[in-house]
Amino acid sequence: MSANVSAEMLHLFQEELRLCKVSPGETVAVLTAGTVRADYAQAFLLAARHLGANSFQVNIPNDLGMLSAASIGKTPLANCRPAINALKEADMVIDLLGLLFSQEQLEITNSGTRMLYVAEPFHVLKQMFPTESLRKRVENAAERFKTARLLHVTSKAGTDIRYQLGQYPVMTEYGYTDTPGRWDHFPSGFLFTHGNDDGVDGTVVLMPGDAIAAFRRYLTSRVVLTVEKGHVTKIEGDGMDADLISDYLSSFDDPRAYAVSHIGWGLNERAKWFHMVETRELNRERAMNSLSFYGNVLFSTGPNTELGGTNDTACHLDLPLRNCSLTLDGELIVERGTIVPADMRK
Ligand code: FE
Repeated sequence: MSANVSAEMLHLFQEELRLCKVSPGETVAVLTAGTVRADYAQAFLLAARHLGANSFQVNIPNDLGMLSAASIGKTPLANCRPAINALKEADMVIDLLGLLFSQEQLEITNSGTRMLYVAEPFHVLKQMFPTESLRKRVENAAERFKTARLLHVTSKAGTDIRYQLGQYPVMTEYGYTDTPGRWDHFPSGFLFTHGNDDGVDGTVVLMPGDAIAAFRRYLTSRVVLTVEKGHVTKIEGDGMDADLISDYLSSFDDPRAYAVSHIGWGLNERAKWFHMVETRELNRERAMNSLSFYGNVLFSTGPNTELGGTNDTACHLDLPLRNCSLTLDGELIVERGTIVPADMRK
């Protein structure tokens, strides 16, 4: 087999496409840049064929400048109409390029094509492999989340922040998708929404051991974020972390970088909060362990276009918090880092 496709990888991707209900007569498109994840591309193309589906690849030149973290939402596909059209024609797109937050992604999924983003190293795909039970628990959680009007996060460390809800939809991520037009990220295991515009106020206290996903590191010092009307207005702390966050946000020279972004919680018991201390592939990790681990409260800053908002800032920080409590309209969902409702528990 070409491009180092192992039997193990082929088998795992076939199981993944089976969860996505890829079936005979369907067409799966794999989107790639240059030779990045060429092994994944070949394995998905073959796995789809083995399930009786058609498969083809759309490959664009690998321009690293367009794929960096500072270019979220801007993709090299934007000016390539024939490629977008080809992807819309497929029943399912495996996105190995990273279309998240882009107009192209919205256009493709709005056409009814389901889409699966894959970016983690193989050992993480295996470790966090999705299950139907995870999906069920994430969907149970979404049912509660959809009707809630107030989300409140607290912690012993001093976090106390309220999100008015109802303006934006709830988004689920459980690691596969069998639903037309639905996007997911393999692997994952969490859900989120946005607070209403101007409807987020309070304090978030980041503690040592909480992760800054974009930096691929854990905080080692306490950081206090003040949030007023949906924007971070103060960043305080004695250690390096407050400076890192503060200088990183200001480097974008964009007031919209300070907006509060999605809020939710993690439900994947296979994900580990401490994964960054035991991996040798940090430069390839996409933080899905950090975002998904069971009982984390996922706070974030930056864009809200993913759920239909207008803030398309390129600056996005995911800040999964440990040991927090979260309520929806007063109902306890997460209690000091552990999940409470029976139908969401592992
Ligand atoms: Fe995020």
